[in-house]
Amino acid sequence: MEKVIENFLQYVKIDTESAEGSVSTPSTQKQHDLAKVLAGQLEAMGAEEVVYDRERCYVYASIPASEGCTGAPVLGFIAHMDTSPAAAGAGVKPRIVKDYDGNDIVLNEEKQIVMHVADFPELASYTGKRLIVTDGTTLLGADDKAGVAEIMAMAEYLLQHQEVVHGKIRVGFTPDEEVGNGADYFDVKLFGADYAYTVDGGRLGELEYENFNGAGAKVTVYGRSVHPGEAKGKMRNAILMIQEFQSMLPPAEIPAHTCGYEGFYHLDSLKGTVEKAEAEYIIRDHDKEKFEKRKETFWQIGNYLNEKYGEGTFEIDLEDSYYNMKEMIEKHMHLVENAKEAMEELGVEPAVVPIRGGTDGARLSFMGLPCPNLCTGGQNFHGRFEYACADDMEKIVEVLIRIAEKYAK
Ligand SMILES: [Zn+2]
Repeated sequence: MEKVIENFLQYVKIDTESAEGSVSTPSTQKQHDLAKVLAGQLEAMGAEEVVYDRERCYVYASIPASEGCTGAPVLGFIAHMDTSPAAAGAGVKPRIVKDYDGNDIVLNEEKQIVMHVADFPELASYTGKRLIVTDGTTLLGADDKAGVAEIMAMAEYLLQHQEVVHGKIRVGFTPDEEVGNGADYFDVKLFGADYAYTVDGGRLGELEYENFNGAGAKVTVYGRSVHPGEAKGKMRNAILMIQEFQSMLPPAEIPAHTCGYEGFYHLDSLKGTVEKAEAEYIIRDHDKEKFEKRKETFWQIGNYLNEKYGEGTFEIDLEDSYYNMKEMIEKHMHLVENAKEAMEELGVEPAVVPIRGGTDGARLSFMGLPCPNLCTGGQNFHGRFEYACADDMEKIVEVLIRIAEKYAK
């Protein structure tokens, strides 16, 4: 399983940072640099039906079913090639810390960048293992090149080991997951899988099939500017009115005060003058009913304030972003059960955790491809302190192979 590490070290050196607000697909052309490499490697290892969508930057390939398994469900594995624009993705210099001693890790001697156990206490649990770290100036890109490397290593292993019995396997690599567009042009029909997993989670053992329901909301308030010296009874200050709106939302239901299955309202941006003020929110909840209730609360506050200040003072635009994939996965719980079993058989303790965000898998699930999310072995995504555990990555390749075996019939 050394191959997965070799793959990973190669892929992270290829800059594939995606860009927010880009109008092109993919959002950055450099994502093709990795797509080309992957398509070439898939061809070279003998994968079939290798398709590289040169326009949209998606890569698909097949590993044919073992003899006698052509009637088995077609199982897909998906990872994203881009890295988050939240931290620098060019010039990644990965380094392997062999036999990690459990202490602070000096990432960069020259710049004195140190990863402290006090800041990241879960580091201690990796004592004795191999960690792949950055030089403290870029992200690592384990999100999600660890997933890409693991799927590639699984594919090569299955192609080389005919004795491992499995149905037809599809692999897919997508661009732009980090900017929310990874599923946009994913060709579910061409992919042709009955079920799939995204390999885009964190710590070894993590298994996810519940994510938030999400909506975005924009509140616009129209005020009236009058010279402050003569404003009595005339001025209507949009900034003060939008503050009033915010003050009517439950103060404890914010990201900084919630965890697990607790939903929230998040004020993401606020700008304004006396004449006009705008606030942008995101609304999140795992529970569909509570999610609807939260949106209802927005309308109620808006209506109340419009009655108070006059119709048209408050304008609310609310749009759903994505939904909890749970309702789609629940019809196919074997996806969760088989992944759990595969982990347990390999000595990994499964940890089913709700995702406090969305995933491409959630979008794909609603596009007709049920798609829970598996771990990659990476930690501290989207930042300079990102790292991955090499031993865990090797274990995850074994988990993927074991899951493939479970769908052989
Ligand atoms: Zn990711």
